[in-house]
Amino acid sequence: MNLHHLLDTIERESLPVDPTMVRLAYDCAAKAHAGQRRLSGEPYIAHPTAVAVTLAGMRLDETTIVAALLHDVPEDAGVPLSTLEREFGTEVARLVAGVTKLGTIKYRGVERYLENLRKMFVALASDVRVVLIKFADRLNNLHTLNALPPVKQKRIARETMEIYAPIADRLGMGEMKGALEDLSFPFLYPEEAAWIDRLVAERSRDQARYLERVERVLAKDLAGAGIRPSDIHGRAKHRWSLYRKLMSHERDIDRVYDLVALRIIVADVAACYATLGVIHHRWRPLKGRIKDYIATPKPNGYQSLHTTVFCEEGRIVELQVRSAEMHQRAEFGIAAHWHYKHGARGAPPPPEWLRQLTQTSTVLSQRTIENLKLDFFKSRIFVFTPKGDVVDLPEHSTPIDFAYQIHSDVGNRAVLARINEQVAKLTDTLKSGDICKIVIDKKKVRPSAEWLRIVKTQTAREQIKRALKGRT
Ligand code: MN
Repeated sequence: MNLHHLLDTIERESLPVDPTMVRLAYDCAAKAHAGQRRLSGEPYIAHPTAVAVTLAGMRLDETTIVAALLHDVPEDAGVPLSTLEREFGTEVARLVAGVTKLGTIKYRGVERYLENLRKMFVALASDVRVVLIKFADRLNNLHTLNALPPVKQKRIARETMEIYAPIADRLGMGEMKGALEDLSFPFLYPEEAAWIDRLVAERSRDQARYLERVERVLAKDLAGAGIRPSDIHGRAKHRWSLYRKLMSHERDIDRVYDLVALRIIVADVAACYATLGVIHHRWRPLKGRIKDYIATPKPNGYQSLHTTVFCEEGRIVELQVRSAEMHQRAEFGIAAHWHYKHGARGAPPPPEWLRQLTQTSTVLSQRTIENLKLDFFKSRIFVFTPKGDVVDLPEHSTPIDFAYQIHSDVGNRAVLARINEQVAKLTDTLKSGDICKIVIDKKKVRPSAEWLRIVKTQTAREQIKRALKGRT
């Protein structure tokens, strides 16, 4: 990434940003970081430039883009904030200071987690743009994570899943949330991520061809009804969210209907409902799968109509209908509030919950954490060995998964479990906080083939298959 990429993006998005200011900020950052390199080997300036490009792509304002270019200058190049303030103004200096503060957390474990979360809230309350820069910063760091030692990779990926992604979600930034999770996923669960990649690859080409056919049928019907969609496109489900869905559907990909959804963008709300009518006239909807998020938006403000239909050739397909404005908000969330800043309409007010957050206290309460809907924690359980070691498993895991997580021999020879001192079946469901002990029979060598249908972890699955083939 270089200055030209950035200036091109600004021009392509026709942002009301002064290129002279961008050049000045770039030159200042390039000078400050001169001679520094990223662990990936690139010159350091490529990093703040990539961050600025991401934010320009999100159509953010000049202050944010300039601050993004300068975001590592005080910390990594020792240029004092007062210099930035003198040359780029108070607002830019304030944003850079906010980003710098977010970057310095030295605690460990749960304390670190809470402190991180608290800092994010303080930053959100002071200026949401600080957090937006931090998101773009993290996104670029994840792209270059391969260059880091494995321990650091895991820590950064975990922190992203636990803190960044849920907050992005809460801010309605669907694309950002999906990208953060998908980039972190392989570092935390490499086998699972590889499994998902294989599943998706097996199906993607057939899916794409099929959706093209559906799209043609639909476009014709819509034209007949006088509806002119501004865009129809297929959207592949994000990998982490697919993985989570598979975990709650007994790993059966054929039961995931929104692996690829067809998205229809139309002019306004009336056209959304009219489009839904056209869809249901052509294809019969599945019961209980019509969701009107226009009349009842999701808590983060998300709006769309979702329906799942028996489509061409009887295949089941999810369709999502929304207006262009809803689409902008679904992709960019709170960042969309800055899109209109210099336009005729002025910035729309921030959502109510954020207003409350910024007006009242910035102290992290239990309820704030609850409200954040920490998806990551919800989808994982933490089970203890009798010695107190933690085993991290997907929800609905069984003692079989637990056993294989400890050692393949423990899994293959398991006959019984004790959960919290009580005798339990190996197929029972574990929950967070359980203490689990596996009872083994040394003479037993093979696991049961039945287990393949029950286990939730890729490790267990592969070890069972291996043992059944006799290659223990
Ligand atoms: Mn950075």
